[in-house]
Amino acid sequence: MRRKLVVGNWKMYGRLGRNKALLEEVLKGIKDLNNAEYGVCVPYPYLAQAQSMLQGTKLAWGAQNLSQHEEGAFTGAVAPGMLVDFGCRYVIIGHSERRALFHESNEIASAKFDAAIKAGMTPIFCVGETLAEREGGVTEQVVARQLEVVLNHAGVEAMAKTVIAYEPVWAIGTGKTASPDQAQAVHAFIRQQVAQLDGQTAQGLCILYGGSVKANNSPELFAMPDIDGGLIGGASLVAEDFVAICRAAHMAAQ
Ligand code: PEP
Repeated sequence: MRRKLVVGNWKMYGRLGRNKALLEEVLKGIKDLNNAEYGVCVPYPYLAQAQSMLQGTKLAWGAQNLSQHEEGAFTGAVAPGMLVDFGCRYVIIGHSERRALFHESNEIASAKFDAAIKAGMTPIFCVGETLAEREGGVTEQVVARQLEVVLNHAGVEAMAKTVIAYEPVWAIGTGKTASPDQAQAVHAFIRQQVAQLDGQTAQGLCILYGGSVKANNSPELFAMPDIDGGLIGGASLVAEDFVAICRAAHMAAQ
């Protein structure tokens, strides 16, 4: 059976004091949830805090972006090796907010993906369609293209070290969740795309669902055969909600 994984994406939220209280509560809440894996992707300035509070615990940590360059004159950018220095296991790549607000193309996302793999981190590679694309009936084409760029470049072998997050753009931060059947259909499609290249890698691939996952909808989503957990935005900022979602993953993995 594939592992279940729940990762929080804090986006641009947090302060030292708030983070401390949140992480303490989450650590307490997941103490006995041994069946699944858990992580948080925090803003860069809080990586040191995450590292010092989470080292040796059940909660891994990571970043929400990285530069595709190893080093150089790239003011404001953060190199993969810098994230490794702070113990990051995960790095989110190709989030729809990066694609839409920071104009990150499939090609840039693919270069960042390569950089994360090269640095030894696990990319959480986000794919997903907009509402117009879903209504236009091109969800599969959009997701296939987003995946294809990475598969063509890094090769299917890289998928063994990758987490994919299917995040329909229309469901992120909107309170609208894809139904379990809608999400399952796209997850199965993603797995099938990878299976065309390597069946075994596809079977082991961890595919998270993201988009308004909450305590109340997580059990149904995580019960679907190709949904291996969640990438959680808003609800990851509230300890009680995030722990409830972690518990749903733990229960689904039993
Ligand atoms: C996200 O930011 O990846 C996300 C899924 O956000 P939310 O859970 O708030 O929809």
